[in-house]
Amino acid sequence: MAGKKYHLAFTPELVNEPITFTLAREHDVVVNILRAEVTEHGGTLIMDIAGDDAKIDAAVAFLRSKGIDVRGLERTVVRDLDRCTDCSMCVSVCPVKAYRLDRGTWEVQLDRHRCIACGLCVDACPAAALRMDDVGPRA
Ligand code: SF4
Ligand code: SF4
Repeated sequence: MAGKKYHLAFTPELVNEPITFTLAREHDVVVNILRAEVTEHGGTLIMDIAGDDAKIDAAVAFLRSKGIDVRGLERTVVRDLDRCTDCSMCVSVCPVKAYRLDRGTWEVQLDRHRCIACGLCVDACPAAALRMDDVGPRA
């Protein structure tokens, strides 16, 4: 089930809160953590929340009620297959493994649902086959 991606920033007091457990149990959504960073100043998460739109909205409202800064990720990567040479540079740089090299066909495959719009692959692609694009407004 494809969901919506969000960037969460929270204070040190919230680092040990069971946020994903609470979201799943009380809001009936499926949460997938794509990236997590925690420092003494707090933490950030990139998460995919899947479920009914109303339930996702309620889950986001819950997060905000806890004092978490929640922002929707509105952009994703787009590949021009006519330009792509399957060189695999994007496979190497992507921090969330959105690309995969098929060892049977030696073609690079992209799962856009994993993309967190960091832009690293766009800068790394020697064929200029990648660009970022809007995927629509998010809450
Ligand atoms: S870096 Fe560019 S050319 Fe190379 S596989 Fe990725 S999209 Fe294709
Ligand atoms: S922009 Fe490219 S490198 Fe960054 S997450 Fe998306 S696919 Fe991966």
